[in-house]
Amino acid sequence: MPGVLVALGGNALERAGADASWASARRRLRAVVPVLAEVARGGEELVLTHGNGPQVGALLLQNELAAAEVPSRPLDVLGAETQGQVGYLIQSELTPALRRARVPRSVLTVISRTEVSARDPAFRRPTKPVGRFYSDAEARVHRKRFGWSMTFDGARGGWRRLVPSPRPVRWLEGPAVRRLLDSGLGSRWVPVVSGGGGIPVVRRANGVYEGVEAVIDKDLAAALVARQLGLATLAIVTDVPGAAVSFGRTGERWLRDVSRSELEALLRRGEFGEGSMRPKIEAGLEFLRDGGRRFIVTDIPSLPRALRGEAGTRVR
Ligand code: ADP
Ligand code: MG
Repeated sequence: MPGVLVALGGNALERAGADASWASARRRLRAVVPVLAEVARGGEELVLTHGNGPQVGALLLQNELAAAEVPSRPLDVLGAETQGQVGYLIQSELTPALRRARVPRSVLTVISRTEVSARDPAFRRPTKPVGRFYSDAEARVHRKRFGWSMTFDGARGGWRRLVPSPRPVRWLEGPAVRRLLDSGLGSRWVPVVSGGGGIPVVRRANGVYEGVEAVIDKDLAAALVARQLGLATLAIVTDVPGAAVSFGRTGERWLRDVSRSELEALLRRGEFGEGSMRPKIEAGLEFLRDGGRRFIVTDIPSLPRALRGEAGTRVR
């Protein structure tokens, strides 16, 4: 079964520390959509997902600053809001790019929930920093008032809230999106799904799903989405042209065609940055272990060539 899942990193959408305006988000995406339209032109099933780090950070700050007048929303709701805003952005910019490229496909965003286990050990040990930096005094207040776990970031001189990052188990909207793709022989739609790794939900005893205060790794969620849809290729798009060994050091070497076992060995050797390249490699290996055919890491300009086997890091 062919088909491609393209996972866009937060960096492809918004650059940390750069102009955070909506106009600049649109400009940045406008540079990305011609490439996506080129991929869509091939007619294979194409599904998109994206990160939401900067967007959820901004919403957390907005909520906090406005809390005296508008009650803050919990983290799962902010996750839904980021899926809405990024999905809308992709719909508005990719649709005209498809039209210009004469590709008759429609872009559709599906607000997605990702089931996690209430017994996941991550809930006992929050590890993922979210939101802004706090002073010593603020950190004390937040810990006491909201029961937050917090960590001190010495380099940046402040405290940050830590939330759990449980493993994604199941994408609840997956079966509906599979049927949607089948309805158009795959080449009628470009669904945008599971943004930010999906809204984390747990299944309660009565069978009802409930949102939880957590975040899901978008790379692991992308692997899950690709597997649930039965897509052959998982392409993780970030801000570097691939994965490297000795990254940023002398003897740096970009990986091209690598085997699974070679990549596993490099992962064990600690070649891939914690919280950045490592989760992508782990997600890719999991995807291949579960029956995926091809895993790619690349950047936007190299994506079409990477899909043709001429650029990026490619694993079979
Ligand atoms: P995204 O928002 O796309 O998930 P990340 O910042 O999480 O982006 O991950 C991409 C980053 O991973 C690169 O910008 C690079 O600095 C870092 N990185 C760490 N180790 C490696 C490696 N071995 N090869 C390539 N990039 C690496
Ligand atoms: Mg990342």
